[in-house]
Order: sequence, then C-alpha cells, then structure tokens
Amino acid sequence: MTKADWKYFRTQLLAWYLPERRPMPWKEHRDAYNIWLSEIILQQTRVEQGRAYYERFAETYPTVADLAAADDDAVMKLWEGLGYYSRARNLLRAARMVVAEYGGQFPDTADKLRKLPGVGPYTAAAIASFAFGEQVAVVDGNVYRILARYAGNSTPIDSTPGKKLFAQLATDALGDVPAARFNQAIMDFGALICTPKRASCKECPLSTNCRAFNNGQVYELPVKQKTLKRRDRHFHYLVIKDDADRTIIRQRQGKDIWKDLYEFPLIETVSNEVGTQELAHHPDWPEWLPAAELEFTKRSQVYKQQLTHQTIYVSFHTFRWGLMPGSIENYLLPQNKLLDKFAFPRVITKYIEDKTLLLDLF
Ligand code: SF4
Repeated sequence: MTKADWKYFRTQLLAWYLPERRPMPWKEHRDAYNIWLSEIILQQTRVEQGRAYYERFAETYPTVADLAAADDDAVMKLWEGLGYYSRARNLLRAARMVVAEYGGQFPDTADKLRKLPGVGPYTAAAIASFAFGEQVAVVDGNVYRILARYAGNSTPIDSTPGKKLFAQLATDALGDVPAARFNQAIMDFGALICTPKRASCKECPLSTNCRAFNNGQVYELPVKQKTLKRRDRHFHYLVIKDDADRTIIRQRQGKDIWKDLYEFPLIETVSNEVGTQELAHHPDWPEWLPAAELEFTKRSQVYKQQLTHQTIYVSFHTFRWGLMPGSIENYLLPQNKLLDKFAFPRVITKYIEDKTLLLDLF
C-alpha cells in the first residue's frame, strides 16, 4: 500500500465518522479514569451489556480514589455476571497503583499506562489518545480486520511478524490526523461497517481502494494461525442445606477459573454421566461430609456456561443435612436469604434465580 492509499483511508474514515452514530456514555468523557473504566469493562464484553456495568461503577466509584478505597468483595459483587473476573481484580490493583504511585493521576503516555495491571497495548493507546491527545493508534481485533481487508494482507494476525506488521499499518493509517478522533472512528467503523460476518461493503466509503473487496476476499481476511481449542469440564455442586436454612458455600482459590467467586462444595468428574450416589465415592467428596447423614432431595437439569477456552457443564445435587455442624473449616454457612450478597459465577446465579422463580428454595 502506498502513502496515498493510507491518506485516502484516513480522509474517508474521518469524513464518515459521526460520534452520535454510536452513542456511548464514555464518549462524553475526556478524563482518563472514566475512559479506563469503560475500556476495562468492555474488554471481552458486548457494548449493550457493558454499558449498564460502566454506569453502575462510575456512579458507585466516581473517582479512582473511591475505587482504590473500595472493599474487594463489594467490587467483585458489582462485577458479578460480567465474567473474566481477573479484570475486576486488575481493576482494583490498577486503581490502588494509580493512587499509591501516581498521586491519584493516571500516567499520561501509552508506555507508562501499560505498566498498570490489566492495561494492554490497546487500552493504553485508547486512554493515551482520548484523554491526553497522544499520537498513537489503537490496534485490536476490529483494527486488525479492517487493515487486513483494506490492505488485502494475509499475514496471520496472531503471529509475531503479524502483530508487528499490523501495528505499523495502523500507524501508517493514522498519519498526522488527531489520534483520538481517528481511533474512535476506526472502532465505530469496525462495529458498524466492516463487521466480521456481514460487512457493508456496498455502503463502505473505503471500497474503491479496498483490496479484499476488489479481490473478493473479504471473508477470508484476517487470517489467524491458531484456531481456538475448547475443553469440556463437568462440575457437580453439592447444595447442602440444614433445618435452619443455612447452605454451605466457599470462596474459590488457586489458579483455576472463577478465582475469588463463591460456590457450593464441588466435585469435578470426567463426564456428566455420574449418579448422585457415586459422587460420595469420588476423591473430591469432602472428608468432613458424612454421606450417610444426607437426605438427597433433587438433581437439577444440566446448566452450561461457555468460557473462552472451556465449556462448563454443571449439575446441582440438593441435600438436607439435619446434623450440620455450627461451622466448617474453609467454608461459610450463610442463611439462604443472604446468598445474594455473595458473588457467584454466572451459572450458579442462574441456578439460584431459577429456584427462586419456582419458589423452590431447596
Ligand atoms: S469494502 Fe468491505 S471489506 Fe473493505 S473496508 Fe469496506 S466494509 Fe471492509
């Protein structure tokens, strides 16, 4: 692609861009805190879903100092349902770092912003350009797609040479026009025109020069080296209640998914075809739980939760345990009616909601 091709690209893109075409609450903001908050919430989340979360966070924690001083559990609870909980943990760590190391002011360059937990090259470039006017182009999945198609380039976007090449193409495309406007424009363009599966090439202001369009390769680009492999996991939750309406839960620890969220005692099996009685002989069955004292009530349907690399199939097995002790090491025994105070993975929240809807509380 020549310099003239990139000049055409940015001129056409900026002429097409109208901020109100895709209204976002954070487009009105130019301060780093609100931009950062919205960018972190929107990573791996659809805009329609992210918007409500962004508004809730911005209202509950109006400044980075408010967020830094927040209780960890309260932040996890507010995040509940958004998934990818490492983002919530990084959100808190980054807010505390901004307060402790930068006196409550966000650093003003993409290079420095990248040192904050959870802030990658894309988010750093977005904050630096929107809040501080730094001349730096954002590069994310949308940008890869638009550039690969416009330039007709089939270098895999997830390879090391591909990442370097597309970062350079993004800089060539940006040229000397204001980065904040260009970055907003290219993101809106990726969401509205040059979309993954149904690109609006006929209405596209770039089509005259677009190599993929002119060569009939729109849906062959961009190219990826690796295709995602998913693995299946089968979870069995023991929902154990006593006569005082207490239920046993614990907080997840370690490196696995859903760290810091709450759950019922868990047994993970290699397939879902396991009878409730068989679970008592499984190595994950808790040592402190005497199977003979439990009265089995019900087994739920199988719930499914799709994560990026894993599909989780979940069955809930309900029991009454009249002789439940006053406390159990590493577990909590809250009253049923207090369960909604805890942050659970989405699949457990869904199960609890279904039970509540049916007035079938265990
Ligand atoms: S012509 Fe089609 S493929 Fe090319 S940039 Fe426009 S929408 Fe994307």
